[in-house]
Amino acid sequence: MIETLKNTRNLPDSALQELLESPSAALAQELKDTAREVCLKVKGPEVLIRALIEWSNVCRNDCLYCGIRRSRADVPRYSLSPEEILQCCGAAWRDGVPTFVLQGGENPAAAEGLVPIVRTIRERFPSAAITLSLGELPFELYAALKEAGANRYLLRHETANPEHYARLHPAGMRLETRLACIRELKRLGYETGMGMMVGSPGQTTRNLIEDLRLMQEIGPHMIGIGPFIPQDGTPFENCPAGSAETTLRLIAIMRLMFPDANIPATTALATLLPGGKQAGIQAGANVIMNVYTPLKERKKYDLYKGKTDV
Ligand code: SAH
Repeated sequence: MIETLKNTRNLPDSALQELLESPSAALAQELKDTAREVCLKVKGPEVLIRALIEWSNVCRNDCLYCGIRRSRADVPRYSLSPEEILQCCGAAWRDGVPTFVLQGGENPAAAEGLVPIVRTIRERFPSAAITLSLGELPFELYAALKEAGANRYLLRHETANPEHYARLHPAGMRLETRLACIRELKRLGYETGMGMMVGSPGQTTRNLIEDLRLMQEIGPHMIGIGPFIPQDGTPFENCPAGSAETTLRLIAIMRLMFPDANIPATTALATLLPGGKQAGIQAGANVIMNVYTPLKERKKYDLYKGKTDV
């Protein structure tokens, strides 16, 4: 079986379905062990740490799953000042974490204001990696941020299926637009990240296989996935959370399909599963994102219920 697993890139849909759905704990363990072995061989034993700086929860979008969606009125909104962002970067740098991930709600006007900040970060920390995760922006702004010194961009596609995408997002948001952004980011030379929530409302195993096929087509450098977790005050507040086990199996499958990719064991996984970060690493992930958002704002970046903040 191990040799077959190592050839996951070419596995037919039926085999992927079995890996995702099989009740066999032995098969699941073999999958995760094989992924870990491939990870050690290709990426080495180091777990890479990233500094997550949740710089603003102001968002123009109304994604049905998300705790910082525009219409969730009871979330106090904040944006970090340039000085605060630089302080977070400095703290991470001193901790030996030279990759800063600036994530926030989608807000093109504010994102424009980040161009000079990115330039300053680049000047102060010439060898750091600057990763952005700011949603869908005008292509000129992606280019300006790149020119200012950003090198990586995380933009999860959320689901590869257009009907499922429409179920998760308000009218007006389109999968096609999101994919055009992802392709443009790659074209501009960003190391580009994709990914999806696992177990989002209405998602089927078929959809997850479509996600894998889409990522095979586009070829992301980074893949971030985590279980869907409901948040109060959103349309999905009463929906069940996704499965941590399915998330771990997907991490393993992705390691085998995309051996070189950087794959985090995400906060959402750790929120749902005690020890989730370690479990993610044992299933083939090689990245951990530590939160560097100032304590006074941390609780306001309230994407889902119970979000751990470490
Ligand atoms: N505005 C940026 C960053 C979004 S927040 C963007 O559009 O890319 C980062 C990720 O958190 C999202 O891509 C989504 O996959 C995840 N997320 C949002 N709400 C969630 C929830 N309720 N449960 C689990 N993950 C969620």
